[in-house]
Amino acid sequence: MNTRRFKLKNNTSVRCCPQCGNNQVFTAHSDYCAEDCCEVWVVCKCGYDPTSEKSGFRLEDVWGGVDDANIMDALSCWNDALSAEEKQLTEEREGA
Ligand SMILES: [Zn+2]
Repeated sequence: MNTRRFKLKNNTSVRCCPQCGNNQVFTAHSDYCAEDCCEVWVVCKCGYDPTSEKSGFRLEDVWGGVDDANIMDALSCWNDALSAEEKQLTEEREGA
């Protein structure tokens, strides 16, 4: 498993962590999920990982790795996973 801690500049494109509000400091993870496939995902500095129960939101890549391109893609997965989570919570609240 590869990991890489990184810090982004001030930005509004990455959703804030629902636990601590951070949207700049993350650790990228890359690990094999199958023989010829890797998953890449980002975890907040507080340890929050919206994909831990939603691995469908992890980036799948043949080679994996935590280079800049994969990190950018994994951040858009982070955004998607958080949107999905928000939607789920809203639905639960509304009893849908
Ligand atoms: Zn956090």
